[in-house]
Amino acid sequence: MIPAVLPTYNRAPLSFVKGEGSWLIEADGRRFLDLGAGIAVNALGHAHPALVEALTDQANALWHVSNLYRIAPQEKLAERLVELTFADTVFFTNSGTESCELAVKMARKYRAARGEDRPVILTFEGSFHGRSSAGIAAAGSAKMTDGFGPLLPGFRHLPWGDPDALKAAAAEPDVGAILVEPVQGEGGIRPLEDGLLKEIRALCDEHGLLLILDEVQCGVGRTGRLFAHEWAGIAPDIMMVAKGIGGGFPLGAVLATEGAAGGMTAGTHGSTYGGNPLACAVGLKVLEIVADPAFLDAVNRKAGFLRQKLEGLVAAHPDVFEGVRGEGLMLGLRCRAANTDVVAAGYGEEVLTVPAADNVVRLLPALTISEDEIAAGVDRLDAAARTLAS
Ligand SMILES: *Cc1c(COP(=O)(O)O)cnc(C)c1O
Repeated sequence: MIPAVLPTYNRAPLSFVKGEGSWLIEADGRRFLDLGAGIAVNALGHAHPALVEALTDQANALWHVSNLYRIAPQEKLAERLVELTFADTVFFTNSGTESCELAVKMARKYRAARGEDRPVILTFEGSFHGRSSAGIAAAGSAKMTDGFGPLLPGFRHLPWGDPDALKAAAAEPDVGAILVEPVQGEGGIRPLEDGLLKEIRALCDEHGLLLILDEVQCGVGRTGRLFAHEWAGIAPDIMMVAKGIGGGFPLGAVLATEGAAGGMTAGTHGSTYGGNPLACAVGLKVLEIVADPAFLDAVNRKAGFLRQKLEGLVAAHPDVFEGVRGEGLMLGLRCRAANTDVVAAGYGEEVLTVPAADNVVRLLPALTISEDEIAAGVDRLDAAARTLAS
């Protein structure tokens, strides 16, 4: 008999009843060190007092009003994002996949408004852009698309890290945009090669393409800058955000330049919940905390410490692990053992990690994790690896 919850997940037999910072407490009282943070969602850990306060204050004032009216927390959050980034304008969504929907629509409308027939968006093998029809068509992997055809047309998939293939594809006359994650998350914590994002920006400029960055997982302080593309010293035309921006409350956003958003006039897009007062009140507080340079400095210090610890872990267990990769607090352990076995062994040691493609175990801890917690987490991973080696 089919379970009451549609069985589209292979769930671990764990059920948490409470969260405190980097800790999740199981119904039976066990305390798990959370190195997954809800897949990069709980950017400030669980039950951060400032977020609890922002949410409850807003809940006591106003939960929901339609986008038929002005929404003050939404306007404040948009203004703050515009101040802090390349963007001139922001549309709020409730998830990454909705941000993908709008990014794709915006790129198409941009061409239509200019009377151009350039609907194709270049995307990359191993990418992940969410589970909507546009998201799965954009990523294109059989695992996500099998049986869901006919797929949304207009995407051309390129190999990851092949500048020559990219150069050739970008010159095709029907291509209008490039969509890429600066650091692939689901694809196995694969950062774009050094310099490649700059090259992609230059190709976009050369051919008049829109650069759409998917920073749903790698954005909001995760790599040690507010957004990952800042490391490359470039700016996109459109950017998808979600996950960390809501700190655990469903919130996403599409940021864009005035030019890229040119086709999006009144009536061309909407969302009932997008930009909801509760979500935006929380998002504002997340942004206030994460955008502080001192906070980002601390993320970078902790990232260096975690990386060094993980290098030690790999060296101690060459039969289980192959290497470390990633940026900031978005790190992947490439495994020799099955990554799902490593994650499961972690459950036995009360540490939570997340599997990704390419046999990688992902570490996406809360950006607020302490060095002691990092050390304790890696100790637990070490104990987990020992159970696998024997
Ligand atoms: C998680 C993710 C998405 C989809 O976000 P949802 O909130 O699950 O819809 C899109 N892109 C990237 C890079 C992601 O990591």
